[in-house]
Amino acid sequence: KKPEFKNFPMVPRVVFGKGSFNQLGDILMPKRKHSEAPFIFLVDDVFENTELAQRVPLIFNDQIIFISAEEEPKTDQVDALVSKIKSEYQDLPSGIVGIGGGTLLDLAKAVAILLTNKGGSSEYQGWDLVQKPSIFHVGIPTISGTGAEVSRTAVLLGPEKKLGINSDYTTFGQVLLDPDLTQGVSKEQWFYTGMDCYIHCIESLTGTYLNAFSQSYGEKALELCKEVYLGDISEEDSRDKLMMASWHGGMSIAYSQVGVAHAMSYGLGYLLGVKHGIGNCLVFQHLEEFYPEGVALFNKMKEKHGIKLPTGICSNLSEREFETMIFVAMNMVPLWENALGKNWRDTITPEKLESIYRKI
Ligand code: NAD
Ligand code: ZN
Repeated sequence: KKPEFKNFPMVPRVVFGKGSFNQLGDILMPKRKHSEAPFIFLVDDVFENTELAQRVPLIFNDQIIFISAEEEPKTDQVDALVSKIKSEYQDLPSGIVGIGGGTLLDLAKAVAILLTNKGGSSEYQGWDLVQKPSIFHVGIPTISGTGAEVSRTAVLLGPEKKLGINSDYTTFGQVLLDPDLTQGVSKEQWFYTGMDCYIHCIESLTGTYLNAFSQSYGEKALELCKEVYLGDISEEDSRDKLMMASWHGGMSIAYSQVGVAHAMSYGLGYLLGVKHGIGNCLVFQHLEEFYPEGVALFNKMKEKHGIKLPTGICSNLSEREFETMIFVAMNMVPLWENALGKNWRDTITPEKLESIYRKI
């Protein structure tokens, strides 16, 4: 039976600071089981042929696998990576290191779990379905906002659903936060992924699940987001602060929930492959009714940075396609309950959601 109070795992070790990536070799050394048990580095392919790739501390039979973050992680992609690693090595790896945004971090978490748990990754999408501890896994974000570096979930697009592997074994065993790694991110992507964090704060702080634990992290994250997107601070300061905002935003939702924008963004992601950050922005701009102050501030930040969100995303969809998105969104029961309380179905009807989707 579900316990009344969540007993959730936190990342046991974290390094913070610009240049801390240089310490990675030393951090991994004591975790090496023996010379035949490699570290596998899953690295966003934007870093292929860059200085960062050369700084990855490879020894023995370690391997870098470059992976595109063009599309969000999929269950069959995780399964293929696991088969590849199992076929290339006799021994299980000493660990998996994910280097990139939420896409690479979630892939690293899922691969680490599936190396020790049998079957396919889609069997573990849900809550607490993982039986055995994963292998050691390390998260190194290169873009800030999702909170994937602290969360106990790895969101995957499966054949039937977009859902996380939520388990105590999902959380990273080590995180390395080096704000310098986020330097190459484009302005648009910086905004979309950063707004994921901002939206985590708004949805957590205005939700019915709010408690002092979530509030303490959510308020700090929101304050940092305001400094980053509306304040007058240096770029270096801004990179440091957004990295910590992401962390606190993730901690805030660990003990509460997200809300309307996330529920509806999941629908967009499932049907159209719209990515999490931009999907949240596309929905959130039309949610004045639910988050009046949050949306007003969002518009201010969008204006200040000259961000133009795409339009017409849902203009040519069929009735069936709207139904699919609405079905996926309405299935996110805890998110709606957090946003609007137990009686959320009084406000949220298929017609209501369709009218919002039609604006996007
Ligand atoms: P991402 O990993 O999808 O990357 C976005 C883009 O930024 C990609 O093109 C990537 O190549 C690029 N990029 C990343 N770092 C860069 C750098 N330093 N320089 C240049 N380009 C860089 O982005 P994201 O928004 O961090 O992650 C989205 C994913 O995170 C989604 O799959 C979503 O489901 C997942 N997510 C997970 C959680 C969780 O708790 N596990 C929470 C929120 C979102
Ligand atoms: Zn999010």
